[in-house]
Order: sequence, then C-alpha cells, then structure tokens
Amino acid sequence: MSLSALETRLRDLIAARRDSMLADLTALVRIPTGYNHAPGLDETRGILTARLAALGASLDLIPGDPKPDWIDPDAFATGSPPSTAVARRPRGEGPRVLLGGHLDTVHDPRGAFDRLTLGDNGEIARGPGAADMKGGLLIAIVALEAIDEAGVPLSWGFFLNSDEETGSYHSDAALRRIAKEYDAGLIFEPALPDGSLVVERPGSGQFQVRTTGVPAHVGRDFRKGVSAIVGMADCIKSISDMADPDRGLIASVGVVRGGKATNIVPDECTAWGNVRFRDPAIASEIATRFDDLARPHAVAGVHVRYSFNRPAKPLIPGTRALATLAQAAAADLGQPLPFGVTGGVCDGNNLQSVGLPTIDTLGVRGGGLHTIEEWVEVASLVERAQLTAVLLARLAEGRLQT
Ligand SMILES: [Zn+2]
Repeated sequence: MSLSALETRLRDLIAARRDSMLADLTALVRIPTGYNHAPGLDETRGILTARLAALGASLDLIPGDPKPDWIDPDAFATGSPPSTAVARRPRGEGPRVLLGGHLDTVHDPRGAFDRLTLGDNGEIARGPGAADMKGGLLIAIVALEAIDEAGVPLSWGFFLNSDEETGSYHSDAALRRIAKEYDAGLIFEPALPDGSLVVERPGSGQFQVRTTGVPAHVGRDFRKGVSAIVGMADCIKSISDMADPDRGLIASVGVVRGGKATNIVPDECTAWGNVRFRDPAIASEIATRFDDLARPHAVAGVHVRYSFNRPAKPLIPGTRALATLAQAAAADLGQPLPFGVTGGVCDGNNLQSVGLPTIDTLGVRGGGLHTIEEWVEVASLVERAQLTAVLLARLAEGRLQT
C-alpha cells in the first residue's frame, strides 16, 4: 500500500502547519490546567471547542459527578467537580469515530514550570502538559481540520474531560454514555518513548484501610491500650503479600497516617493505596482479599473501602483491527508504529469497558511525564497529526475490518 492522492494532500496540508501548531501549543501550555484550576480549564476548553464548533460540531457541557470523599489523602482539587465537554458532528451513515482526551495536567498552576521552552536546536519543547496531553489534543484537532478541508465525510465526536489525572471519577459516567454512540475510539495520550502504540492495559483502583484501637497512656495504662498502628502493620503485610506482578496483580500502600504522640497508644491509623489487575478475575480476587482483611481482627478494628474505577483493557478484536489500521497508515507515511504494553491506565480503559474499541496513545512522542522535565519531540506534532488524518480518512472509507 501507499498513500492515495487524498492522503498525500492531507499529509501536505498538515506539514504546512508546523509553525502554527507550535504556536498553538505554546499558547495552550501557558494556560495552567492542573489541580482543578477552573479558570484555566474553562479557557482551554473554550479555545478547543471553538475550533470544533468551527467545523460544524454541536457542543454539550456535561456537569461532573461527585467523587467519593475517602479516595485522596490530600485532596488538592478543590471547587466543584469539573465538567466534560462533548462536540458532535454527525455525517451520513459511515462509521462514527470518537476522539478526545483530558484538559487537566498534574502541574501546580502556581509553579515555576509554567511555559513552553525550546531546546536541542528547536527539536524539543518542554512545558507543563505539552506531552500529557495538550500536544495530543492539538494533533487530534488539526487532523480533523485537515480532513474537513480535504472534504472527507466522517461522523465524529470529541470529548474533553478535566479529571483524568485524578481518576476520571467526575467524568466516568459521561464517558461511558458517550462511548455507546460510536464505533471506534481514538485518545491522544502520549506515545511510549519509542513511539509505540499501547494496545493493552491493566485495570486500576484505589483503596483505603482504616484501623481503630483503644487509646491509652503508654506509661500508666499500656495494657489497656489497643494499637491501631500495630493492627495496620498486619494489614500492610497482608496487602504486600497479595502482590504478584507476574500474574498481573499489584497492590501497594502509598500513604500511611496514624497516631498523635509518642506516649499515647494510637487509636487510629489510615492507609491509602493503589491496585492494578490484568483482568476481571484478578480484580475480584483482590476484592475478596480486601473483604477478608476487614473480618474481625485480633488486634484492632479494620475498615476497608475500595473502588476499582478503571477496568482492565485487554486487546479485544475490534481494538486489534483499529491498531492494525493505524499501523498500516503509519507505515505508508514512513513512520514505524510498533505495538506496546504499559502498566499505566487512562480513559481508554473506561471507553473500551462499555464495548468501544479504543486505541489511546496517538499523541506526541515525548517524555518526562508528570515531572518538571516534561517534553515533546516537536517533529512528532506534525507526524502524529498526519497519521491521525490518514487513519480518519481510511476509517471514513469503511476500512476498519471487524
Ligand atoms: Zn494523560
């Protein structure tokens, strides 16, 4: 296979937009969207949805759902739950494609890492959210603008949520609802460092373990005391013994807090952690083991809560077909696109869990994610937008074999 005349035109249209893409990314990165920073989220959502509306899309804003209050030890996201925007542009009877991604970053809106700077002779650009995933959102929108300019008839939708980095609790129900309207899902999270396309992911969830005891003065009443921290130590040992990464079962306690003073037997201790599971069977195994943990305990009271918010994302036939179509498009553009696997999770887990075949790392090549080194390979902005546009054109032609 090689590129058709239409696909060559798409490639050239996007190549000519390199400088404008870099300018747009500079502007987007300058607007802080971490920590549920509402003014920045609203401004960015406004800029991106205006471009989608200019292509003829109708817009909806879906209010966010509340998040369970026990999930975060230090909930930094304050204010009301952020909304999810969805743009829809139906056209004809062909396959319907849902694109999208998240507006939020992990970066502090008051931090010093606050703008895009070029390095390595302009080949690299560093900035908060440049890779994860403002660069990706830009790629998707430029690809849609190019297929529109070239007259490709495609039914598409576009979602923009604002809470992916904190688990998508506010947007999960909206994403699952929207997913049911479409035939293929494309999410623009950053590629793996070598450019790989992730085709399967584990699921993930959060848990909280709280132990309670009886407080007592260490000197006067030691025997009357029941230590919540000793009880927690037993629980942490059980959770740590549960982990079996070779079987696709990870359980890790990340934060522990308990006790008030060195001379008081502590009556309260709380731990928070994260689990990863390869498939639903392992997820229910973890749930059973957490339930066992909460059974009457020799030392202290044990209370467990868990929420497995991201179902596992195995390589289903529809996703394999979509990934294969993307790989062929990449080959015709002279871009290698190997398949990869990661331990990370994203909104692709949620979309695919309701049956939408989804590939989710069509964004930029870059690295330093979630650090103040976050960077993108500038050339990948154009390359990945070209790949997306050719993929969309082939989807419009009905070339997805499922
Ligand atoms: Zn991301």
